[in-house]
Amino acid sequence: MNNQSLLERSLAAVWHPCTQMKLHETMPLVPIRRGEGPWLEDFEGRRILDAISSWWVNLFGHANPRINAALRDQLEQLDHVMLAGFTHMPVVELSEKLSALTGHELGHCFYASDGASAVEIALKMSFHFWHNSGRPEKTRFLSLTGSYHGETLGALAVTDVALFRDVYAPLLRTADRVPSPDWRHAAPGESPRDAALVAAVALEAHLAAHHAETAAFIVEPLVQCATGMAMYDAEYLRRAHALCEHYGVHLIADEIAVGFGRTGSFFACEQAGIMPNFLCLSKGISGGTLPLSVVLTTDAVYAAFYDDSTARGFLHSHSYTGNALACRAALATLTIFGEDDVINANRSTAAQLNERAAALAADPRVRHFRNTGMIWAFDVSTDDPLFARRFHQAAMEHSLLLRPIGNTVYFMPPYVIGSDEIELLVAGTQTALDDVLP
Ligand SMILES: *Cc1c(COP(=O)(O)O)cnc(C)c1O
Repeated sequence: MNNQSLLERSLAAVWHPCTQMKLHETMPLVPIRRGEGPWLEDFEGRRILDAISSWWVNLFGHANPRINAALRDQLEQLDHVMLAGFTHMPVVELSEKLSALTGHELGHCFYASDGASAVEIALKMSFHFWHNSGRPEKTRFLSLTGSYHGETLGALAVTDVALFRDVYAPLLRTADRVPSPDWRHAAPGESPRDAALVAAVALEAHLAAHHAETAAFIVEPLVQCATGMAMYDAEYLRRAHALCEHYGVHLIADEIAVGFGRTGSFFACEQAGIMPNFLCLSKGISGGTLPLSVVLTTDAVYAAFYDDSTARGFLHSHSYTGNALACRAALATLTIFGEDDVINANRSTAAQLNERAAALAADPRVRHFRNTGMIWAFDVSTDDPLFARRFHQAAMEHSLLLRPIGNTVYFMPPYVIGSDEIELLVAGTQTALDDVLP
């Protein structure tokens, strides 16, 4: 196998995600033979730094020896068993550990295999909770402008990305929207906290008028990743939590992208000191090895389904719900968090990257340079509609995997990124900017 023949076979047989396939007439696919640590390698031995953690899933590098050893051990014991009517050690241990990480406030774990399914589960559970509680009129959902919660029809209904949503609009029961607390919306002289307070006022107005028919408010805590790494002050989450509680509306925290240490705390909600009614996790949960997602919820929600009537139960399922291998990968991921004191180690990695990126942040072409935990982003002043594509290709020339969202360039590196790789990332980004915007 070589690069070229893999490309040809892929284009003939594989329909790639989030892609206009015709684009590959001019922009080649990137063939990958192997991965190791933060690096990907093609068939000719060319290495690329995976500076976006393969769509934000990879925390501890590719082919991580500890996760791989756990998977090998699990493979010898149990690959998979249906979770309806059956149970196994990895799913029980993982549920206990995740619940402990919420201080046992969210003590019930419901599993699926991808993020969008976790979102659908949280939405269905919230609605069904109200239905079982004698409030069947609570059928509406609320989300933020610029929200992204996945692309199945239910998740798309709470997603605010026109390009992904508009063509399917006739199929969707689109959610209500309130303004994002994105700190870039702050007026001159206002702080990020001021922007959060302004958005919270709009949320309160909406809930005051519509709480009776609203089941849940779904948010991406601290960073709205997919629509360009919009970052916001934790005060918004505190207000949203209090308002939802006051108006009897569930709060769903979609931590699919921001959980597992990405924002600097294990869960992003910790920085606001709040606990949602539903917590959705996926992406980093298995360290980037296997698909897995989970929704955690409270005793109160669980109790509303617990009954002699089958129909009052939550009858949702997926074939691979609670897959033993994926749960074992997640357990190995949690073990690494403990063994390597990852949250603290990330603090010094982030400080190092910020120091190295100071000149980039001050570059006149760079606007709103921002950082939350292990996420960095900046907006580039350019009218070039092809900027994202051109920057991606220029970065690849410098051995860097970066995929801007519109005019926003972001870094979401695996936590194992080292000093030399930070140097390459920042220097390569500056050179790629020079290439694209001379
Ligand atoms: C990626 C993502 C999803 C969807 O997860 P998939 O596994 O791609 O379905 C949902 N919410 C957020 C915040 C995400 O970043």
